[in-house]
Amino acid sequence: MFTCANCEIIGCRKGDFEKAPANCPIKVEDVRESSREEYEKEEIKKFIDGTIKLEKEGQNRWTRVEETIQFCKIMGYKKIGVAFCLGLKKEAKIFVRMLREHGFEVSSVICKNGGIDKRALSISGDEGLRGVSCNPIGQAMLLNKEKTEFNITVGLCVGHDALFFKYAEAPTTVLLTKDRVLAHNPIGALNCTHRF
Ligand code: SF4
Repeated sequence: MFTCANCEIIGCRKGDFEKAPANCPIKVEDVRESSREEYEKEEIKKFIDGTIKLEKEGQNRWTRVEETIQFCKIMGYKKIGVAFCLGLKKEAKIFVRMLREHGFEVSSVICKNGGIDKRALSISGDEGLRGVSCNPIGQAMLLNKEKTEFNITVGLCVGHDALFFKYAEAPTTVLLTKDRVLAHNPIGALNCTHRF
């Protein structure tokens, strides 16, 4: 088991593994080598290069919205997919408009696409289930059909987002994570809880 979250040495940050714990991931040589090999692929090289340019130009300067738009420009994408939640439709509409103003062709798909009754999908037999289910697999399939080059999610629910990532063919980034309690700012539940 890996325990990087509890490691206080963080030797990997400087390439110094002298004092690394016994279960340090660096010691898993096959993964280290095979992951390095993946970065030799042309498409991955281009992708990584894009993230380096983004970091160089925008770190501590651009908001996540700006970074996302700039990354799409750096990568030379023309067609973008936006998979959004009904609860964040207003924000999705603004973001899609911004993308279009920056010259992108945008295909946007709502979570409720398909109009599938929740009861038809549930195996719990819960009589209390009402309404239309979210359909993240449909969101991914529709954007696959549109041949989007890059997808952006806006507020998909926990779990639905995972299904979207599983089925989407184009690489996907997250613009916004849903947290209805904390104004969609999940880190608020973690900040200020450090124990000394
Ligand atoms: S990779 Fe190794 S050195 Fe880096 S945080 Fe994980 S355990 Fe620590």
